[in-house]
Formats: sequence, structure tokens, C-alpha cells
Amino acid sequence: MLKWGCCASDSLAMARELECPTCDAPLVLQGDEKTGDEVFCTTCGAPSLLKLNEDRDEIYAEEDY
Ligand SMILES: [Zn+2]
Repeated sequence: MLKWGCCASDSLAMARELECPTCDAPLVLQGDEKTGDEVFCTTCGAPSLLKLNEDRDEIYAEEDY
């Protein structure tokens, strides 16, 4: 389903690859996640919270304790 290398993706701060903060595996996003959402790593199962890096206008995943 995921195809990289094409343009034409203008959804806000999405369609980027995040990494699991626990095991560094790529996190699979559906594309409609937003900051504050909890996502689960498909590799280690750890929950992560999506946060917004305001400086770069990027979403990143942070460990959810
Ligand atoms: Zn993980």
C-alpha cells in the first residue's frame, strides 16, 4: 500500500515515516493520525504518542509511559 518516491502528497505533516522510540522500527501510520493519538509499534508492541515538533512542523513519536 505504501509507495514512496512519488510526489502529490499534500496532507498536513503526514505521509512521513516515523520510528518507534523503543525499538527504532518504522511505525506504520494509516495517514489520518494526529498529534495526541496513540499508535502501537507493530514490531515490539510498545505504545507511542504522536507529538508535534513545532520548530519543524513535523510529527514524531514519543514513548508513552
Ligand atoms: Zn517498537
